[in-house]
Amino acid sequence: MTEITSLIRPHLLQLMPYATARDEYAGEAKLFLDANESPYNLKLNRYPDPKQTVLRKAVAVWKGVNPENVFTGNGSDEAIDLLLRAFCEPGKDAILIMPPTYGMYAVAANTHGIGVDELLLGADFQPDYEKLLQRSKQYKILFLCSPNNPTGNLIKNDILEKILQVFSGLVVVDEAYADFSGGDSNLTLLKKFPRLVVLQTFSKALGLAAARVGMAFAHKDVIEVLDRIKLPYNLNALSIEAAMKRLKQKETLSVQIKSIIRQRQKLMKSFEKLPFVMKVFPSEANFILIKVTDSNHLYNFLAQKGIIVRNRSNQPLLENCLRITVGNAHQNKLLMKTLRQYNL
Ligand code: PMP
Repeated sequence: MTEITSLIRPHLLQLMPYATARDEYAGEAKLFLDANESPYNLKLNRYPDPKQTVLRKAVAVWKGVNPENVFTGNGSDEAIDLLLRAFCEPGKDAILIMPPTYGMYAVAANTHGIGVDELLLGADFQPDYEKLLQRSKQYKILFLCSPNNPTGNLIKNDILEKILQVFSGLVVVDEAYADFSGGDSNLTLLKKFPRLVVLQTFSKALGLAAARVGMAFAHKDVIEVLDRIKLPYNLNALSIEAAMKRLKQKETLSVQIKSIIRQRQKLMKSFEKLPFVMKVFPSEANFILIKVTDSNHLYNFLAQKGIIVRNRSNQPLLENCLRITVGNAHQNKLLMKTLRQYNL
């Protein structure tokens, strides 16, 4: 047993996964009559590749990793769900999350009857290593998010490495917003730490939220078990095609990301000048967290004007905080114009 297989739910090691028609025969043929597909409506009549071989190869080249270390699926939300199903025994195992953070880690765990323990983030929204150390052997999975949603900060490299050294379960680092940050991706740590899983997505910087394409990067034993338990055709052909097309638009993408980062800096400066903004938190993402005098009041004011932001004030440590997505120049101008009309 490897370090990874000893963490997997034991019954899954014996599980015989569903074999699709395409798993049984993947070569070139004259005629495929093996999957009960329609002969009409060409192209979309055929089931997609269950392993998304072409997309995974393209992602691997893009990220500088091996295809065997890449999982692609229906948003990174699918990867979160599959990791829980692969490693955590309902009613027995628990995960550790560090609020305030992305809500799906807890929701997905709760739906499976997997325990969720919380350890609040510490100063500057960094994980408190000393407190984590005391709990480092109790959990199958620790979910971290960097840049963190909704606080916007990166987890410091030295803290993450220290955590990776002591935590006995999987350490999942969700990098949904990494393209907007000045820091390095933690993908470079994969070789050194086999229990690290990095999540990324096509939904944010790549602008493909509607297509639902997410990625997980991990040791091949982790990828293998996710593939074993996923639905056979977890990514549809239209989404695979959209993702492949987007990967070929590297220059456009880079221009768009740079523009969002510029807009973020501009918006932060403008927020700082507003009398009802108490604090603008630093951001390495495409959103900005602000603390205001009365978040519910401001939220309702903006909503009445047709501008919807995210009220995060019910999360721990985030009293009176709103999370605002960075739009394009036109959208941000409209936001600022409206905010300047706000009187307490
Ligand atoms: N992780 C984080 C931190 C997110 O904020 C989100 C979406 N808001 C996701 C994952 C889900 O991304 P996807 O669209 O790839 O499922």
